[in-house]
Amino acid sequence: MESLIFDRMASYDYENLFFCQEKTLGLQAIIAIHNTTLGPAAGGIRMWPYKSEDEAIQDVLRLARGMTYKCAACGVSYGGGKCVIIGDPRRDKSEAKLRALARFIHRLNGLFITGVDVGTNLDDMVIMRQETPYVVTLPASWGGPGDSSLETAYGVVQGMRACLKEIYGSPDLRDRTVAVQGVGAVGRNAVRYLTEAGAQVTITDIDQERAALVAGEFNVQVAAPEEIHRLPLDVYSPCALGGVLNDRSIPELRCKIVCGSANNQLLEARHGDMLQQRGILYAPDYIVSAGGLLSGLDSLNPGGFNHERAREKVAHLYDAMQQVIATAAERGIATNRAADILAEQRIAAIGQAKRLAIPI
Ligand code: NAD
Repeated sequence: MESLIFDRMASYDYENLFFCQEKTLGLQAIIAIHNTTLGPAAGGIRMWPYKSEDEAIQDVLRLARGMTYKCAACGVSYGGGKCVIIGDPRRDKSEAKLRALARFIHRLNGLFITGVDVGTNLDDMVIMRQETPYVVTLPASWGGPGDSSLETAYGVVQGMRACLKEIYGSPDLRDRTVAVQGVGAVGRNAVRYLTEAGAQVTITDIDQERAALVAGEFNVQVAAPEEIHRLPLDVYSPCALGGVLNDRSIPELRCKIVCGSANNQLLEARHGDMLQQRGILYAPDYIVSAGGLLSGLDSLNPGGFNHERAREKVAHLYDAMQQVIATAAERGIATNRAADILAEQRIAAIGQAKRLAIPI
C-alpha cells in the first residue's frame, strides 16, 4: 500500500498525527505526538506561514521528535510532541482561532501539554487557558512561570559552567571570555547572568539598536555579527539561529566551548564530530536550553508553579551536561551523539520499568 503519511510516521516511530480544522475561522493546525513512553507529550505551539501542508507536516514531526529527546535528556516524565498552526502570526492570528485550537487540545485529554514557541506568546496562552488547562506557559499573574527566556538563559549558564569545569577544572565564570550571538529574550538574560558572575562578555545582534541597548545596559563589548564566532574566547554562545555550526564556520572557531540556547545549532549531526575533532567542547542545545521547558512543566505539580523548585530543576542541567561529557569521553564520541544515547537509554529503561503492573 502506498502511503505518504504513515511511511513518514514509521520512519521515526511516531505515535499520532492530529489534524485540526475549523473552516469558518480558517484554523488549520497539526499536532504530532512522537513518543509517550515517559509520559504525556510536551511541546510548544509554533505559528508559521508554511508554504505547503507537506512542509508543515515535516516540521511538526521533526520538532516533536526533538522534544522526545529534550524531555528524556533533562530528566522529566514527559514525552515529545509539538503543534503547528499554518498561518502568519502577524496577520492570521485571532482569539477565536486560538480558542478553537485550545478546544482541540482539550479533547486530547492531557495527552499533549503545550506552551509558547515561535509565533505565539504568553497573551495567546492566556486566551487558550480559557478552554483548556493543558497550556502551561502562563504569565506569573496567572500562576505560571512567566517569560521562559529567563530560566532558559539560567540553564544555558549552568551548562556552560559544567563545560568550564571540564576544560579548566573550575566552573567559575569570573574573567572567562564569552561571546553571545543574538541578544533577544534568552541572549539578553544570559548576558545578565554572565556579567553578574564576572565574565568578560562580547555580544552581537543583527538588530544594531538592540545590540547597543544591551551593551549599554550591561556595559559589554559589541562585535560585528559576521565576526562573533571567530573571536578568540573561552565560550561561543549561539543564542539566535540554528545551523550556525557548519562546514564553513567550524574551521573558523577559536573558542574552547560552544554553549548556547539556539535550537539545532549543528547543521548536521556530523558537525558534532567535526567539533570533537577540533577539540572544541559542544554543549548539546537541547540539553542546555531546557530551562524554559522545565519551568513550564513545573506548573503541572499539584500545588501549581513554584519558582524555587523550578530553579532547582534548571540548576540540575549542570549535572545533565556533566553526564553527557562523561559518556562522550567514555565512548570516545561527540557530545551530541552521547546526549542522544543517554536520552534513548532513559526511554528504554523507563519503558521497561513501566511494564510492571501496579495492583489497583
Ligand atoms: P529572540 O527572537 O527573542 O532573539 C533572537 C535574537 O537574535 C534577536 O535579537 C535577533 O535580532 C538576533 N539574531 C537573529 N539572527 C542573528 C544573527 N545572524 N546574528 C546575530 N543575531 C541574530 O529569540 P529567543 O527567545 O531569545 O531565542 C533564541 C534562540 O534560543 C532561538 O533559537 C530559540 O529557538 C532558542 N530557545 C529559546 C527558548 C526560550 O525560552 N525563549 C527556549 C529554548 C530555545
